[in-house]
Amino acid sequence: MENKVEAIATMSDLRTHAAEIAEQFSEHVDVETSEVEERLETLVDEYRVPVDEARRSVENSYLEEAGLERDEIGQGGNDEVRVADIDEDEQWIDVTAKVVDLWEPRSESIAQVGLLGDESGRTKFVAFETSDLPELEEGAVYRLGNVVTDEYQGDFSVKLNRTTTIEQLDEDIEVGDDAVTVEGALVDIQSGSGLIKRCPEEGCTRVLQNGRCSEHGDVEGEFDLRIKGVLDDGETVHEVILGREVTEDLTGITLEEAQQMAKDALDTTVVVEEMREDLLGTYYRVSGPELGRYVLADEVERLTEPADPEAVLIKARSI
Ligand SMILES: [Zn+2]
Repeated sequence: MENKVEAIATMSDLRTHAAEIAEQFSEHVDVETSEVEERLETLVDEYRVPVDEARRSVENSYLEEAGLERDEIGQGGNDEVRVADIDEDEQWIDVTAKVVDLWEPRSESIAQVGLLGDESGRTKFVAFETSDLPELEEGAVYRLGNVVTDEYQGDFSVKLNRTTTIEQLDEDIEVGDDAVTVEGALVDIQSGSGLIKRCPEEGCTRVLQNGRCSEHGDVEGEFDLRIKGVLDDGETVHEVILGREVTEDLTGITLEEAQQMAKDALDTTVVVEEMREDLLGTYYRVSGPELGRYVLADEVERLTEPADPEAVLIKARSI
């Protein structure tokens, strides 16, 4: 009985090692987890090589095949990185963080999505169904080994994957507030604002252009509302992104109403046009975390009454 349990443990252990190795080399050589597992099995079962040694040996053969040095691949012993310091795409890192918030996944392929925080700030995380990981609990602190960073339009996030190790820690973390506050006149509402469609593919959420995702091609998009705006305080410009809730609060237009407006006009751009008319030229104070070059608005406060568009026009003409 004990032997059987031990054998099963070793097998799943080998599969984990195989998955990790395949992940490390997937960018460099054509490699399947099953093939790596077979090679590990041969070494461990037939030649009685200790697992760690077998792993090193298999890794070495892939290093040779890829023409790489050991320090060029994501190899165990990642750097422990503070979430606010994540500034590169596709880095394998370890993170110790608290689950600050869990969101409703947009896609069935996503097991969990939300925010992780540590003393330095917060970052988004995604875990996929296929990774088959234990569920993270809101408010709990974890040491997450082997997560991979992701960058999209200056926003960084981490992806949990099937090689990620999860250890719950019996401690609390005071999550840092990396929010900034910027003020200025809203001088532009950029394209990709108003009623938009997002790609429904797993972990994607890219905004579609003419029904196409730059990564996944033609897809059936999901409606969303947002504003990508530019605030100008006379000295500096700040780019801000308002998500659905903040946009709904500020404009008084709900996602449902926006869809109805678009349906009535047979045109989605009526929504952003109405927002432009309502919001441009007015001063706002926007607070939220800074990600890349954007401030992600948690809060928006209108500082002045909407400017008279006529007056702005006259002024513009007289310059
Ligand atoms: Zn996509």
